[in-house]
Amino acid sequence: MAAQPKGQAWFESLADPSERYGLDEIVYTDQSGGLLQVVHDMDALKERSADEWKQLFDQRARRTEWPYGSGVWGKKEWVLPDIKPDNVVSMYEGYTNLFWAERYGREIGLNDLWIKLCGNSHTGSFKDLGMTVLVSQVKEMIAQGAEIPAVACASTGDTSAALAAYAAAASIPSVVFLPRGKISLAQLIQPVANGAIVFALDTDFDGCMKIVREVSERDGVYLANSMNSLRIEGQKTVGIEILEQLDWNVPDWIVIPGGNLGNVSALAKGLDMLLDLGLIDRKPRICVGQAQAANPLYLAYKKDFEVFEPIAARPTVASAIQIGDPVSRDKAIDALRRYDGVVEEASEAEIVEACAAADRTGLFNCPHTGVALVAMQKLLKSGQIHKDEKVVVVSTAHGLKFTDFKRDYHEMTLEGPSPLHANPPIELSARYDDVRDRMLREIDLRFGS
Ligand SMILES: *Cc1c(COP(=O)(O)O)cnc(C)c1O
Repeated sequence: MAAQPKGQAWFESLADPSERYGLDEIVYTDQSGGLLQVVHDMDALKERSADEWKQLFDQRARRTEWPYGSGVWGKKEWVLPDIKPDNVVSMYEGYTNLFWAERYGREIGLNDLWIKLCGNSHTGSFKDLGMTVLVSQVKEMIAQGAEIPAVACASTGDTSAALAAYAAAASIPSVVFLPRGKISLAQLIQPVANGAIVFALDTDFDGCMKIVREVSERDGVYLANSMNSLRIEGQKTVGIEILEQLDWNVPDWIVIPGGNLGNVSALAKGLDMLLDLGLIDRKPRICVGQAQAANPLYLAYKKDFEVFEPIAARPTVASAIQIGDPVSRDKAIDALRRYDGVVEEASEAEIVEACAAADRTGLFNCPHTGVALVAMQKLLKSGQIHKDEKVVVVSTAHGLKFTDFKRDYHEMTLEGPSPLHANPPIELSARYDDVRDRMLREIDLRFGS
């Protein structure tokens, strides 16, 4: 076994904590193919008190001293303590707004509902939080002389957008493998515009995943898919940031959608550090929402996690979580056990109706956020969430990245039950009398008593 790696954080095998690697080693899994995690020297972090950490985060937030103004890099010591600031590749990700969804909460019967809009970010999803860390570490390794010809991922959407943007900012070549013909224009255009080498392959997502693993093993291309645990280190700041934005008042619940299950694992990892370092003294409960079409975690939860059976995921409007065999399932189950977690599922009709109802109150939800909204409402109905509890829903992407399903919903061309909130544009001749009559009728219909 290798000696203890240098530095204040290192990779460690989940299965065997004595198997460790430096963060500057190119390694994605342990010797038996299991996941690694990044472990920090907690004694070193405990040299600052909880209050000192809070003050430090507060001083740095949104300021210009490089790179600490970013929500991720303001917590640099907790993320990548040893990296040189010059090698950080940041676009000031994080510090996305957390707001009190007053009207929506009131309509569904919750008095203290908050939405964390992770999609109000550089490439429009929370994937920026992890990618800034991964690409920064790559830049550091290249600066130290490592030969890394490119960074690559297989993806159909948000991961490739984040990789392409951060790699472009760092002048590092990026390669994206997408299944040909299965990608919408919005999903394709971000890596294309950012100059990634974009392959549209005659296969599906799994086929792309096979190719990216092969080029990473045989050609030294650095793998940016979510088995790479560096991404979790950035994503975990979402949990820290939520608490910071709530002035360290611990919510009763945090609700999050899950596909490959890296993000819920990351959320819990951030909370773990807050507890361990004394910044909070109480745990929130965690709820993961899954689409019914891709619900292996939900099925396992129903059996108390005694078995976990991968499934063949079916198509869902929540395309970023259409995953039947999630990479981070062990980390996620561990997280749910520690945070008194629950898992709920959402049907396609429930997802689109939840998005539409919440959009009516001024939100603009992506379908994955819709899954979390359904999960939250189910817990409210079953009495697990009480009406006065503080609830945070993690919104994972910007609604503008996922407009096709909204168009279909409002044009009433979606399969399934007819939509409750369809609001198609009114097509009319441009004659004042016609327009006025119709306008007054609509105002009365919608807002009249
Ligand atoms: C990646 C992604 C998810 C799922 O996150 P996991 O870590 O795979 O569970 C959810 N929503 C959006 C918008 C995503 O891009």
